[in-house]
Amino acid sequence: MINKVSVIGAGQMGNGIAHVLAVAGIDVFLKDISKEQLDKALQTIEHNLRRQVGRGALSETDITKALTHIQPVTNDDHLSDVDLVIEAATENEEIKKKILSALGPQLKPEAIIATNTSSISVTRLAAITDRPEKFIGMHFMNPVPVMQLVELIRGIATNEETFETIKDLAVRLDKTPTPAEDFPAFIVNRILLPMINEAVYTLYEGVGSVRAIDTAMRLGANHPMGPLQLADFIGLDVCLAIMQVLYEGLADTKYRPCPLLVKYVEAGWLGRKSGRGFYDYTGDEPIPTR
Ligand code: NAD
Repeated sequence: MINKVSVIGAGQMGNGIAHVLAVAGIDVFLKDISKEQLDKALQTIEHNLRRQVGRGALSETDITKALTHIQPVTNDDHLSDVDLVIEAATENEEIKKKILSALGPQLKPEAIIATNTSSISVTRLAAITDRPEKFIGMHFMNPVPVMQLVELIRGIATNEETFETIKDLAVRLDKTPTPAEDFPAFIVNRILLPMINEAVYTLYEGVGSVRAIDTAMRLGANHPMGPLQLADFIGLDVCLAIMQVLYEGLADTKYRPCPLLVKYVEAGWLGRKSGRGFYDYTGDEPIPTR
C-alpha cells in the first residue's frame, strides 16, 4: 500500500501529481532544485484546489486537509521514508538519469520508482536504477487534477506486483489506468505530438494563421482546443523534446521537428509558462503572435 510519496520536480506536472495524491490523503514530499519553483507550485496547488471547491468537487475542509499532506523540500532527507518516488523532472534524459541513479541507496528496498516521462524509454531509465523490476512509467496527463487518464508503461523488467500496485494507486487517485507498451512516446503522445508538429508546419508554410489553424481544428475536427493552443499549454520545449525522441527512436523522417518549433524554443518562447508561445499571454486575453 502506497502511503508516502516523493514527487521529484515541482513544475506543471509535479504540482498536479502532488495535488491529486494529497486530495487522496497520501503524504507527499514535493522536491525541486528551485525554491522559487516550489513556492510557485504550492500557490498553483492552492489555486487549483479552490477551483475544485468552486465547482463543488471539494469542500474548504478538504483544501486544508490536502495542504497538510504536502511538504515542499529541496533535499533528499525524506527518501528513506517513502513507498514510491514519482520522477516528474525536466524531459531530458541526462537530468532524469542523474536523478534516478542517485535514488537507490537512499530508498527502502521495497520502494517503487515511477517516471512521468512523456516519451523516454522506461526500460532505459530503469536500467540506471538498482531496481528495474520495481520501476514503471506512470504517465499522467496535463492538467493532472482534471485529466482522467494515466498511461502505465512496463519496462522489460517491471514485475507484475509493481504494475498492480501502481494500477491500484491510479484508481485510488480516481484516474483510469491504461497499459501502453514501451515504445517512444507510448500511445497518447505518439498520436498527439505528430499532429501538433504538423500544425506548426501548417503555420510555418503559411497555410493558415495561428487563429485559423486553431479555429479549423476546433470547429472542423471538434477538438476541444486548437493544436497550437494545446502546444502552448503543454510547453513548446516539452513538445520539441517528445518529437526528438520520436524522430531518433523510430528513425523515421515523418517525425522531423518543425524548424519553427525549434526556433521558438531557442527564443525561450515556451508557451503559457514563459508568457509567450504561439499566443502572447501577457495581457488579459491570449493574443495570436502570427
Ligand atoms: P516543467 O519544466 O514544468 O518542470 C520540471 C521541473 O523539474 C522544474 O521545476 C525543474 O526545476 C525541476 N527539476 C529539474 N531538475 C531537477 C532535479 N535534478 N531535481 C529536482 N527537480 C528538478 O516540466 P513539466 O511539464 O512538469 O514536465 C515534467 C515531466 O512530466 C517531463 O518528463 C514531461 O515529459 C512529463 N509530462 C509533461 C506533460 C505536459 O503536458 N507538460 C504531460 C505529461 C508528462
